[in-house]
Amino acid sequence: MKRRDLLKGGILAGALSLLPQGVAQGAPQNLPSLGRRYRNLIVFVYDGFSWEDYAVAQAYARRRLGRVLALERLLARYPNGLVNTYSLTSYVTESSAAANAMSCGVKTVNGGLAIHVDGTPLKPFFAAAKEAGRAVGLVTTTTVTHATPAGFVVSNPDRNAEERIAEQYLAFGAEVYLGGGDRFFNAEKRQDKKDLYAAFAQAGYGVVRTPEELARSNASKLLGVFSDSHVPYEVDRRFQGVKVPSLKEMVRAALPRLASYRNGFVLQVEAGRIDHANHINDPAATLWDVLAADETLELLTAFVDRNPDTLLLVVSDHATGVGGLYGAGRSYLESSVGVDLLEAQKASFEHMRRLLGSSPDPAQVKEAYRAMKGVTLTDEEAERVVRAIRDRVYFPDAVRQGVQPDNTLAWAMVQRNPAKPDRPNIGYSSGQHTASPVVLALYGQGLRFLNLGLVDNTHVFRLMGEALGIRYQNPVMSEEEALEVLKARPQGMRHPEDVWV
Ligand code: ZN
Ligand code: MG
Ligand code: ZN
Repeated sequence: MKRRDLLKGGILAGALSLLPQGVAQGAPQNLPSLGRRYRNLIVFVYDGFSWEDYAVAQAYARRRLGRVLALERLLARYPNGLVNTYSLTSYVTESSAAANAMSCGVKTVNGGLAIHVDGTPLKPFFAAAKEAGRAVGLVTTTTVTHATPAGFVVSNPDRNAEERIAEQYLAFGAEVYLGGGDRFFNAEKRQDKKDLYAAFAQAGYGVVRTPEELARSNASKLLGVFSDSHVPYEVDRRFQGVKVPSLKEMVRAALPRLASYRNGFVLQVEAGRIDHANHINDPAATLWDVLAADETLELLTAFVDRNPDTLLLVVSDHATGVGGLYGAGRSYLESSVGVDLLEAQKASFEHMRRLLGSSPDPAQVKEAYRAMKGVTLTDEEAERVVRAIRDRVYFPDAVRQGVQPDNTLAWAMVQRNPAKPDRPNIGYSSGQHTASPVVLALYGQGLRFLNLGLVDNTHVFRLMGEALGIRYQNPVMSEEEALEVLKARPQGMRHPEDVWV
């Protein structure tokens, strides 16, 4: 198809402004270089983490916890910059296209793992690192088979094919897999009834399912799966007694194992549910997952200090929801109150909804908000929540693109008094990802520059390659070629309720 035909093509033509124009108009390309190699590489991905999330967590840490974020200290003193996140055919990426850009060095269409939309497989960076003798680890708070970790190790046209991805993990043979997703490993839950736990054990893995088993295990290769689906939020682990390991505990188990391999290692750590909390517009779930990430960051920087031949790369894959603390009151003097009000929030909406069941009454809803969110709902607000849970009538209707009942749970308690907040004054743009640039930061010895500047997410691939001395090029696809494939075979990403992207 000719370009001019595409330009006539309505919606598809509208997308054509991504790469070609940027290149044609001479968009500046910043390609910073490390100037040295490292033995180990740790990539810490904050999924769906925006600068607004950073600002809220920074304020909360200072005001309520009396400390400064490890991330703030790192940003103040070590190389950092911004990452453009657009995918091959959309200014708004999702996690697999973002993972592909970082792990494969090329832009792809949203939805597949280390693969182009025409089926051309790409080699993900951790696969190349494994070939070069590095041990490999994946640690996440999502299902361990979710897009961000999976896109660093395997190729699959469908990021949602997590049962299959679990089998691909077995074949790939990383040394450490830690996260959630029992439903993709457990014979009783898998559609094909295969017992992946038995298969991993057969292949020499220690298989652990609880925080205690994780702490006790002395297996050198480890598969840890701690929840049916994603690992519950930190706010629920910390305040509601949900029994799962924290991200920091998982990383603490992974590091010595990986460090014991002679040829060094690559590790992806993912704070994967910042994204989910933001989809829901749940500021407390976001906050505590960011704080849990920060404790993990502290552990990782300490590891780098003790193992100076390690490069730590911290990056977000895109922003989600974008819940910003907005100004309130005269001279905005009331703004920070919204941060303090988060202290009374002791559970996620996910946890609250599980407790409320499928047909709560308004009194139960009010009590749940009072006890777990520190907010007194009006009768009308409580009724709205009841209808969202029971009748699946979501609010606000068609205004915000949140497609989950939990979004209604969030919006039911939106701020009513802009001048004097009695609820956290954190406003969301939507329940979706956004297009804004996100954080990139480095920590390690001998980094010779202090400003990474604005780079493309594909440049993460080059930085990783330079760090380990691994160079290769994956095939590039143009936006026009991708759009032709999509037009011939129209299939969007699946967006069923409760499936996170
Ligand atoms: Zn993501
Ligand atoms: Mg993710
Ligand atoms: Zn997402």
